[in-house]
Amino acid sequence: MNQRILVIEDEMHIQELIKYNLEKNNFVVTLADNGIEGLHQAMKGDFDLVLLDLMLPGIDGLEICKRMRGDKKTRKTPIIMLTAKSEEFDKVLGLELGADDYMTKPFSVKELIARIRAALRRVEPNEDEEIEAVNENTDVMLTYQDITLNKEKYEVRKNGEKLVLTLKEFELLKMLIENKGRVLTRDSLLDKIWGYDYAGETRTVDVHIRHLRQKIHDEDGSNQMIETIRGVGYKINDEGDR
Ligand code: CA
Repeated sequence: MNQRILVIEDEMHIQELIKYNLEKNNFVVTLADNGIEGLHQAMKGDFDLVLLDLMLPGIDGLEICKRMRGDKKTRKTPIIMLTAKSEEFDKVLGLELGADDYMTKPFSVKELIARIRAALRRVEPNEDEEIEAVNENTDVMLTYQDITLNKEKYEVRKNGEKLVLTLKEFELLKMLIENKGRVLTRDSLLDKIWGYDYAGETRTVDVHIRHLRQKIHDEDGSNQMIETIRGVGYKINDEGDR
């Protein structure tokens, strides 16, 4: 079966270049040249991968990315963002919002195809690949309420049911549980989990916490597991662990 790729790109010559080369590599290509049409196509959930330009007329690429990640049908569809050189910051945000990869224009077609193949391979239903390995090997199992975390397999279960978390979400949850009862500041979370100077980008933490909450079904309510300490950070309550 030929894999289907949606290309959302408003620059005609890039569109054509991509289409020509993808078809040459046996992909089936659908084109959208603006954000509205692109979003409409993307949300059908019919594609194996989406190539998504950042700056688009109508709705921009970040919004499309966000919407796709918020919908069950398109949650796992790989997204490769296409950005111009000057859009450095948005690139990062794109990854935070759930894009799988990005390429800066102008890019080599060969590399684009390689990245597409790599992204497609990552969605193969090999669950262990969902979360990449990070070396840390203390106590393997961590539990909190109905959540179990396997630090070796990077696996999270809630009531025995496996949850699909990204590596960062996994690490956030792990850190919060390991430090239960203590408030972790956004800066300290950034520092420990992202591991490099990310000054001023503390909203990255908020975005990830929001995603994490959705996945562990910890959305707004009076007894939220992950507590927001306004202006400071997050914590998981000590007494909730029984
Ligand atoms: Ca554009």
